[in-house]
Amino acid sequence: MKDTSDWTIQDAEKLYGVSRWGAGYFEIGENGNLHVMPDFKNPDVRIDFKAVLDEIIHEGIQLPVVVRFHDILRSQVANLNELFQSTIKEADYQASYMGVYPVKVNQMREVVEEIVDAGTDYNFGLEAGSKAELLTVLAHNTNEESLTILNGYKDTEFMQLALLGRKLGRKIIVVVEKFSELLAVVKQAKQLQVEPLIGLRSKMTVKGRGKWESSGGDRAKFGLTISEIINAARYLREHDMDHCLKLLHFHIGSQLTDIRAVKEAVSEGARIYAELHRMGFELEYVDVGGGLGIDYDGTKSTSDSSRNYNMAEYVADVVYGMKEMCDLEGVPHPNLVSESGRALTAHHSCVITEIVGEIKANSSQVDTRQIDGEHVLVRNIRALYDSLQSGGESNLQEVFNDASQWKEQATDAFKLRVISLDELGKIETLYWQIMTILQQHYAGADFVPEELQELDYNLSSQYLCNFSVFQSAADTWAIDQVLPVVPLTRMDEKPTVNCSLVDITCDSDGKIDSFVCGQGVSDVLPLHEIKAGEPYYIGMFLTGAYQDVMGDMHNLFGRLNEVHVFSYDDDPQDFYIEEVVHGSSVESVLDIMQYNPAAMARDMKRMIDAQISKGTMRPREAVKWTDFYEDCLRGYTYLKI
Ligand SMILES: *Cc1c(COP(=O)(O)O)cnc(C)c1O
Repeated sequence: MKDTSDWTIQDAEKLYGVSRWGAGYFEIGENGNLHVMPDFKNPDVRIDFKAVLDEIIHEGIQLPVVVRFHDILRSQVANLNELFQSTIKEADYQASYMGVYPVKVNQMREVVEEIVDAGTDYNFGLEAGSKAELLTVLAHNTNEESLTILNGYKDTEFMQLALLGRKLGRKIIVVVEKFSELLAVVKQAKQLQVEPLIGLRSKMTVKGRGKWESSGGDRAKFGLTISEIINAARYLREHDMDHCLKLLHFHIGSQLTDIRAVKEAVSEGARIYAELHRMGFELEYVDVGGGLGIDYDGTKSTSDSSRNYNMAEYVADVVYGMKEMCDLEGVPHPNLVSESGRALTAHHSCVITEIVGEIKANSSQVDTRQIDGEHVLVRNIRALYDSLQSGGESNLQEVFNDASQWKEQATDAFKLRVISLDELGKIETLYWQIMTILQQHYAGADFVPEELQELDYNLSSQYLCNFSVFQSAADTWAIDQVLPVVPLTRMDEKPTVNCSLVDITCDSDGKIDSFVCGQGVSDVLPLHEIKAGEPYYIGMFLTGAYQDVMGDMHNLFGRLNEVHVFSYDDDPQDFYIEEVVHGSSVESVLDIMQYNPAAMARDMKRMIDAQISKGTMRPREAVKWTDFYEDCLRGYTYLKI
């Protein structure tokens, strides 16, 4: 039976904020299921997430699963490039946009290939920050028109690989982060007789706001100071390599929450570019780095999980900011480069899992009826409960204080052997009964006394999810990143259980207790009651940037199964799963940790066989156990439901 209260999907929208963080890609459908509109140019394409889920289950793919919508990736690439193109036209800007995707944000081959493919028409390039990434980028960015930007600290091999790219005719720009790298690239270029393309990364005085603000400012890890930039340019001139200096780079941090930081960085960068130009260095590109933020919590604010601007405003500030300064300085407009990673990838993937259990705050109760000779603490708290229930208490805060104090005293009394286990159980039961009444009283009240504000959280349920926070949502654990969580179905029913989420790792910090909820962020999320025999699925969204690749091997859970979803051009309601990538097997995670699963299986068989000789196991039974152990080794690391 559905909840017959007058709950509508508009109420669900208010609660879960899907259209606020969904950026047009996600919406609650009339049927109460989450819908995906993965192609921003074609709003008719609409996929019911329940149908994707049914297909996943039908194909026997075990949860948790990462679902990737390739159309969303393509849409975001088109979005960013087209916004730059149209703004450049509108502003009468005299150069073009040559963006790159920084692969560190999500290095999955399928993701990089899709972005390169979607970006072909725009000559969209790639950025690498390490040798492994450079090797990847050399192989994948084969378009001779697009840029390859190299950041990060570099050794001789790194420089040689970059020059190999030049020999292949690629526009590879080595961005010098540190003065010594300039000497290295000049030396290698002379030895190999290849003309390098060089960029200089400027340490900016402006700091981004948000979690990554230390990427800017005087103590930034990367970049050259103003005097180093001047010396670098002169050094190149001394070596007749002025013409190799092509690009000025800056990056003031990821997830910039305040648009003012973007504006300031652009003016500062434009000034440096203009001055270099006056010194006779005709740079062709200014690279504004990454930082284009995502509104994870849907608040459109400068909170750490949000930003106070959208992609169009960001693009306008870059284009107009650069144009204004260059026009004032009387220098030509440079080509614009940006390195947006988060903004391109965050929306395209999500993690789907099911709730496998509920841990209730006060589910278990004991009989609290009075018996002879019971301790005064039990009598007191029962009297308080009775009086509260019959409406005899007017000062609810005092009720809270008394009950809390008695519960504390009871714990001490138990340790001192003054009260029995049974009495402690009664006090605990009565305490939670009192808290439940207090919570009901304050539900929806405008003013809730400070001490009582935690009641909702303390009385909420914990829903146990078949996934690992450390693998799938590393940033929620590491830096309190808020990621939206919503049920995939039943959003036309009123959610009646206040929950936080806990994962299946053995760590108490393997939990999520910060949710997009109503107009802001809350430590509990209302979800639906679990019905016996009916699986309940939830999704964690916007996991495509950083989360996808940062997960660790905590508790040996490893990578998730993945499905790659594509829409059909001819049927907007339909979709197909093109690729299934299997997650980690137990064998594979053990292997990474230096175990030898084959030897383990042999040892186990030997130990089982020994039981046959002893007569404690029949041969048929022994074979079964041996096979079972081997099946488990080959199987998925997560719970098999
Ligand atoms: C991390 C990084 C980026 C990507 O930043 P986003 O905020 O994800 O767009 C771009 N450039 C450099 C140099 C980086 O270190």
